Amino acid sequence: MPSQAKPNRAAWLEGSSNVCAPQPGPTHPWRLILLGAPGVGKGTQADLLSQRLGACHLSTGDVLRNAGQSVSEPTPAMTAARDCMQRGALVPDHTVWEIVRERSACIRCRGGFILDGFPRTRLQAELLNQLIADEGISLDAVVNYEMPIAKIVERLSGRRICKACKAVYHVTRQPSKTDGVCDTCGENLFHREDDRPEAVTVRMETYERSTAPLIEFYRDFGLLLPVAAAGSPEEICARTMEALQNRKS
Ligand code: AMP
Repeated sequence: MPSQAKPNRAAWLEGSSNVCAPQPGPTHPWRLILLGAPGVGKGTQADLLSQRLGACHLSTGDVLRNAGQSVSEPTPAMTAARDCMQRGALVPDHTVWEIVRERSACIRCRGGFILDGFPRTRLQAELLNQLIADEGISLDAVVNYEMPIAKIVERLSGRRICKACKAVYHVTRQPSKTDGVCDTCGENLFHREDDRPEAVTVRMETYERSTAPLIEFYRDFGLLLPVAAAGSPEEICARTMEALQNRKS
């Protein structure tokens, strides 16, 4: 599994009328879903896996945040979605599905995909199954990152993110050299609204109720690949690559 150029995700982030660069080459298109509680590190792993496998990192959270920051007048659906996100609640299935359906070219893409944060409910998983079947493609695996909830809550509450380059820090475990300032680009760090303690509690309850049942859902399809989420991002990624390799052979 050689290292590949990371695609820029233009079609996913800006809408499928945009063209991504670089265009995918003729390698095996990996099609993965990453599951795991919020804060377990799915986004970081999706980025690392994207660099190694060449498949695009597709995060519905990124699309929703991008739309929330757009300069144009937000639609009522986007205003409602923003409110859900700030509270740590799930955005309604029909809004999320509209976003994914509009970007079905990314699901079809011959570069493959790494879905992060989607599906999050049984209905979303069923709709995705249908889309995948209609496109005549199949999933390689559903990676489930495992970590005790108490550890995740501690991670999320201390997480700080760079506004500009999106580098991730932690106030005690991985602090920036200057408090509140990114080591890499010098921009200010921020605390995501949904990483505040009230929202974290809601997100964990929502995860247990709506998303954790997807573990059984995908186990029943024979696709589940459990991976321990302890250690450094590189260690977790190496563990994931090994599990994928073992599954393939
Ligand atoms: P994430 O970046 O994946 O943690 O997502 C941030 C927030 O966006 C979540 O807490 C939800 O409010 C919303 N969101 C992202 N993806 C979904 C989804 N598949 N279904 C419902 N809400 C979502």
